[in-house]
Amino acid sequence: MTLDFSYTALPGRVAFGRDRAADLIASELERLGLERVMLVAGEGEAALAERLTAGVRDRIVTVFDGVRMHVPNAVAESARAAAASAGADGLLSIGGGSTTGTAKIVALTSGLPIVAVPTTYAGSEMTPVWGLTTDARKETGTDLRVLPASVVYDPALTQTLPAGMAVASGLNAMAHCVEAFWGPGANPVTSLHAAAGIRALAAGMRARASGAEGTEAADGEDSLLYGAYLAGSSFAVAGSGLHHKICHALGGAFDLPHAQTHAVVLPHVLAFNAPALGASDAQAMAQALDADDAVTGLRRLYADIDAPSTLAELGLTRAQLQEGIGIVAARLPIPNPRPVSPDDVAAILTAAYGPEA
Ligand code: NAD
Repeated sequence: MTLDFSYTALPGRVAFGRDRAADLIASELERLGLERVMLVAGEGEAALAERLTAGVRDRIVTVFDGVRMHVPNAVAESARAAAASAGADGLLSIGGGSTTGTAKIVALTSGLPIVAVPTTYAGSEMTPVWGLTTDARKETGTDLRVLPASVVYDPALTQTLPAGMAVASGLNAMAHCVEAFWGPGANPVTSLHAAAGIRALAAGMRARASGAEGTEAADGEDSLLYGAYLAGSSFAVAGSGLHHKICHALGGAFDLPHAQTHAVVLPHVLAFNAPALGASDAQAMAQALDADDAVTGLRRLYADIDAPSTLAELGLTRAQLQEGIGIVAARLPIPNPRPVSPDDVAAILTAAYGPEA
């Protein structure tokens, strides 16, 4: 086998353990020497954050709970002001991707280190990517200052996700793994991690969907969150391709729910790209999905876990579908394993819209 690649590993530490979040938060703050921390947790995450930080209350100088999805500029400004006026020396985020994103936008301008405690499978905690929304336009960028210094993964925290959100968020992680096979920075190491992530996510999502209980449910949740970690870390290095560009365009223009949009679009982009995958990638993806080919394997998984399947059911109108096709087509060329034409964009999005298109 001839190998020819480059791989830039990202810094950062991960501590993983069921029912360990409170202890791990304390030890990570101690290890980083953080004594004046701003806690970032959305309103829905406040009770959990309070419980997990009971033992480190003397290190928390202020709490920011004004989290909103896609980090509106006004939220960014007030979070930054809160951290500055409290004289914070670090940030502790407890919550989903929106909460992590709020801590990141403070870190972007202040350089404060982040300890991130994710409660969804979004994977933002593993990436150096920030997002900010100004006048309904979402801007993203990459900066190592926003990559958390330490991440605490506790599967007991994600277990409380409602069923629909767990499926969508798990498939958001699946999209990170799949796209990690063909992103601009993809390499054999990211593909290895992504394949392991696909296997772990599929096992965990099936366990959840089957109504597993006790040890089986706990093992499934461990697998799911471990898969989400592998998804975030492989995607962080491989970078975003056609799938993320489509979801980003639709989410930004029509305020569609983030995780659900990824879930619906993924099988259609995979079906488009599958014929152009290299033999070893196609085989690795298929094996991870326990099928002869990746497209079939992903579709079987979707059926098993009752995944959302159309953009129409997410509330996209037919007029918005046409507008969305135009927005994505205007962003071509997009680097991809096979060339993408405006007609291809229309075909992918029309299929994702569902039979009413
Ligand atoms: P979210 O953070 O908006 O959370 C969705 C809802 O679930 C919220 O109401 C939240 O309170 C609730 N919730 C979170 N954890 C819960 C739990 N354990 N139990 C019950 N309810 C819970 O959703 P998300 O999908 O995690 O994040 C989406 C955002 O993250 C988007 O803005 C997206 O752009 C961003 N994101 C960024 C990156 C990156 O690399 N920068 C990667 C992925 C996602």
